[in-house]
Amino acid sequence: DLNRLKQIDACSWSVPLHSGEKRAPVILYGSQSLLASMDDKVLEQITNVACLPGLVGSAMTMPDAHWGYGFPIGGVAAFDPEQGGIISAGGVGFDISCGIRCLRTNLDLQHIAPHLEKLADALFRAIPAGVGEEGKLKLTPAQLNDVLTGGAQWAVQHGYGHADELEFVEEHGRMTGAVPGYVSEVAKKRQRGEMGTLGSGNHYLELQVVEKIFDAAAARDFGLHQGQVLISIHCGSRGLGHQIGTDYLLSLAKAAGRLGIHLPDRELACAPINSPEGQEYIGAMNAAVNVALANRQILAHLTREVFDKILPQASLETLFDVSHNTCKLEKHQVDGKERLLYVHRKGATRAFGPGHPALPARYRTAGQPVIIGGSMGTGSYVLAGTLESENRAFSSASHGAGRAMSRTQALKRWQGKELIRELASKGILIRTQSMRGAAEEAPGAYKDVDEVAAATEQAGLAKRVAFLRPKACIKG
Ligand code: 5GP
Ligand code: MN
Ligand code: MN
Repeated sequence: DLNRLKQIDACSWSVPLHSGEKRAPVILYGSQSLLASMDDKVLEQITNVACLPGLVGSAMTMPDAHWGYGFPIGGVAAFDPEQGGIISAGGVGFDISCGIRCLRTNLDLQHIAPHLEKLADALFRAIPAGVGEEGKLKLTPAQLNDVLTGGAQWAVQHGYGHADELEFVEEHGRMTGAVPGYVSEVAKKRQRGEMGTLGSGNHYLELQVVEKIFDAAAARDFGLHQGQVLISIHCGSRGLGHQIGTDYLLSLAKAAGRLGIHLPDRELACAPINSPEGQEYIGAMNAAVNVALANRQILAHLTREVFDKILPQASLETLFDVSHNTCKLEKHQVDGKERLLYVHRKGATRAFGPGHPALPARYRTAGQPVIIGGSMGTGSYVLAGTLESENRAFSSASHGAGRAMSRTQALKRWQGKELIRELASKGILIRTQSMRGAAEEAPGAYKDVDEVAAATEQAGLAKRVAFLRPKACIKG
C-alpha cells in the first residue's frame, strides 16, 4: 500500500513514524510498481524488525522482498553487539547460507546446443535432487564434524574441485567461528547422507547463456562475454540448516523471554549477540554456513564430471559463490565511523563494492559479483557491488526476482507437466522429480526479474553486468 510510504527518491521509500511510535527508521528499496504490488506483510514485518534492540541505521528491504518467517525475505538489518544488538534465527532464514555458485565455462551456446538433452539428462542423474534425497557421500560423525568446521576447503581436500578456486568463494570457502558442539545430534544425523545434494523446490542447477552485457568493463573482469555458457547452482545447508533453525527458534525465544526483550511478533525470536544463547546460535549457524559452502563445492565437482564425459574440452571455473541467508560480523561505516556489526541478510546478497579488501584481486576494480536468480523460464542477472551500497544498505543487494505469489496460489494456477512442455517449446529443458514443485516454481509466480534488477541498479545497490537466459534447469 503506497499510501503508507513516503517516497525518498525513484527507488527508495520510508515508513513515517506514528506519533509515539518508537523504532528505528525503515527503508524499502524498489520501483513504484514493485512497491505497489508488494504484499503488505513485508511492510508490517520490516517495521517489526525496526523495533528490535540494538538495530543500527535503518531496517531495510531489497526490491525483491516478499513475506517470510518473522523477517521478510529480502530483509537486511544490522545490529551492534555493544549496544544490546540481537541475533535472530528468523533473520537468517531456515536454509542457512543458501546461495548461488556461478561457474563460467569456455563454451558458447553453439557448443552445447547439440548436446543439450544429453547434458540435462546426465546432470539430472548425477545431481541428487528432491526432498530428503541423499547423495553418494555417507559421512561418519567425525567426518561430518570436519565439514562443519572446514566448509568448501574440506571438500577440496577430499578431491572435490580445486584449491585455487576458493579465492572466488565467500570467506575463501571456510567460515570461521563454527562450533560443531552447538549443533544438535538430530541436525548432524540429518546431514550425514545429504552432502552433495541440491534439495527441493526453489533450488536448481541451471545451464544459462549470456544474452546481454550491460557493463563491458566489469564483464571483462568477470570473464563474461555474450553467447557464453554459465552454470548456476542454487542450494544451501540442507537438513542440517533447517534443523538448526528449528532448534534455535526455541532457545532464542526462551532467551528473549528470560531477558525481557519485547517481541512485536513471536516469529522474531532473538537473543542478544552477547548472550549464551546468541553465541550458541552463531556457532551453530557458522557450522551450517560451512555445510552450504561444502555442498556447493561438491555439486560444482559433480557438474564438472558430467561435462568431462560429454564435452571433454569444457573447463568450468568458479566466477563466484555467494550466500543470501546469513548473519555476518562485518566492518561498516556508520556516520563516518567504522563499526563492527552483525548484518542479517535474509534473501539478500552481500554486495561489496570496488576496492573492498575481502574481494579477490581480480574483482577489486569491478566490485563483488552479485548473482540474482530470476526463474527457470525468464532469466537471471550477474551484477557488481557498488560503493554506494555501503552507505545505502550495508553493502547488500537483491538475491532473486522474489516471489510474487505463494506456492499454494501458484499450484492453483499452473500445472507442472503443461508448464514443462511449454518451456521445452521455447528451448528450455526442465528436469525434475516433482511436477508439483515445477508448478510452484512457475516463472509467473515470481516478480519480473528485469524490473527487480533495474530497480536494484537504480537504488544504487548493485550495477547490472550481464543478463542470462536459461537453457536447461535441474529443479529440486
Ligand atoms: P530463494 O532462495 O529465495 O528461494 O530463491 C532465490 C531466487 O531464485 C528466487 O527469488 C527466484 O527469483 C529465483 N529462482 C527460483 N527458481 C529458479 C530457477 O529455476 N531458475 C532461476 N534462474 N532462478 C530461480
Ligand atoms: Mn534455499
Ligand atoms: Mn536461496
